Formats: sequence, C-alpha cells, structure tokens
Amino acid sequence: MRILKELSRKEFIKTLGTKEQCMEYLSKNKWNRGYKCRSCDHSLFIKGKQHQSRRCKKCGYDESPTAHTIFHKLKFGLDKAFEMMYDITTSKKGANSIWLAERYDVAQNTAWLFRQKVQIAMQSSKTHPLEGEVHVDEFEIGTPKKGEQGRSQSEKKIRIVIALEYRKGKCGRGYAQIIEDYSSESLRSIFTNHIKKDAKVLADGWSGYKPLKKEYKNLEQELSDQGRNFPMLHNQIRNFKNWLRGVHSYCDKEYLHKYIDEYFFRFNRRNHRKSILTKLIDRMTNLKPITKREIQNLAT
Ligand SMILES: [Zn+2]
Repeated sequence: MRILKELSRKEFIKTLGTKEQCMEYLSKNKWNRGYKCRSCDHSLFIKGKQHQSRRCKKCGYDESPTAHTIFHKLKFGLDKAFEMMYDITTSKKGANSIWLAERYDVAQNTAWLFRQKVQIAMQSSKTHPLEGEVHVDEFEIGTPKKGEQGRSQSEKKIRIVIALEYRKGKCGRGYAQIIEDYSSESLRSIFTNHIKKDAKVLADGWSGYKPLKKEYKNLEQELSDQGRNFPMLHNQIRNFKNWLRGVHSYCDKEYLHKYIDEYFFRFNRRNHRKSILTKLIDRMTNLKPITKREIQNLAT
C-alpha cells in the first residue's frame, strides 16, 4: 500500500517541521470555531504565557493548544509527535513502537503509549457504511493446533470478520472486526456498524449468515471454492496479515482491534494521500487527554 506519495518528508518538514509550526497548526485547529474561555465563557483573549497559548481577557485563564487534547502532557515535543504520526500514516509497512523509540530517541514505553493514542484517533466513526457491492468473509490469526482446519473452536486463534466494497473488480473501502465465534449474533456486528442496509452483500455458504437476510435483503451466499471465488477479498486478507506481522509481531487479543482500526484508517484513505495526516491531527485535537491506566483498562 503506497500512501502519501505526494507529501514527501521534505514537504512535511517544511510545513510542520518545527515546534512553533506544530503549535500554530494545533492552535488554529483547536479554536477553529472561535475561542471561548473554559473558565468563564468569555470570547476575547490575549497572548498567553506559552507560544500560541491564549489568555482570557476577562479572567486571565491561560490555555495552551495542547491542553484538553490528547496531546496533553506529552513526554516529547509536538514536532516529534507530528513526525511520528507522519511515519505511522505513511510508512509502507507501518511504524511500530520499537522502531519509533529508536528513531525519535524516546523510551519504548513512551512510543507505545503515544501509538496507542494515535490508534484511538484512527477508530472508525461508523458514519460512512460500505455500499454498493460488499464482500464479507472471516479469517483467523494465530497458529492453528495440529489437525485443526476451517472453523475450529480453538481459543488460541483470533477470529476476524472482514467486509470490503467490490467496485468493478477493484477494491473500495473496507472494515474488519474481531468476533468471538461464527454465530449470526457475532457476525451481525460488522453489518450493523459498517454495511448499508441496501448493499448487495456477498458471503460464503456458512449458515451463520442466513438469519441476517431478514435485515439485509440483498445478502446473497455463494459456496466457497477454497477462496477461488473471492480473489479480491483473499488478496486483501493476505495484505492485512502481512502488514500485521510487520508492525506487530505477536498478537495480544486485547490490542489487536486497535491495529485493525489503524490498518483500515490508512487503507480507506489510500487515495487521499495528502489529507491523511491532517485528518489524523484533526481527530487527535478533538480527543480528550487519556492516561496509560485508562488505555490499559480499555484493553481488558
Ligand atoms: Zn475567562
């Protein structure tokens, strides 16, 4: 997957290479709908203590661009943060926390925590469901026990359902979700979250899909010919698995869903290369601060 071909690192550094540029960008983003004092609601401000911070003209409350955003209390400069985000969104194989820690000279825990925050911003808004022709399938991640094939009950495997738009032989947008099992109830979640009711959905012959036909009138089932009849889908599953292996060498079930979010955030913007980074910064500006403890609690 080639992303951001046009936005070279050189171009990125030119526009967002210094702390001041990043603070200015964040400040504009944060108060783009106008300034309002958090303490007294007053709408006029003067320059605050720090670069780009704003001080309420009435009560003197001073607010920095990073305050009340997910960039609050970063252990490194905003310029480093933005460049890490550039790497996470643009590098072909994805930038894992070990690589980021080394490149940006921060502790691996620090890089890991920041990466977790970036992934929160990459969660789907669930407001743009897949439409047209959509292909759905399931796959597993992990090592199957010897002698087990197909849809096994092994707890060691992580089951994932994937849905992709099929547009004239090419792949459109897509989403995936972890599922507990292959029951209709489990499979239903990706339909509810990510597929339009009137989409033409194509799935294999698995009985779990059958009850969904009540709500999805255009859902059709085709007996799977060992993957041969869904080549686009299986190609994309392979790509996803390869990416995951590169960026995340082992599979913690608790965190896997965040890597799925990351993959499809990039995947669904592979044709909007210029805006992928600004989209991510926008989303992060609108997210409240979150602690490491809260991130760990969310995962368990
Ligand atoms: Zn005020």
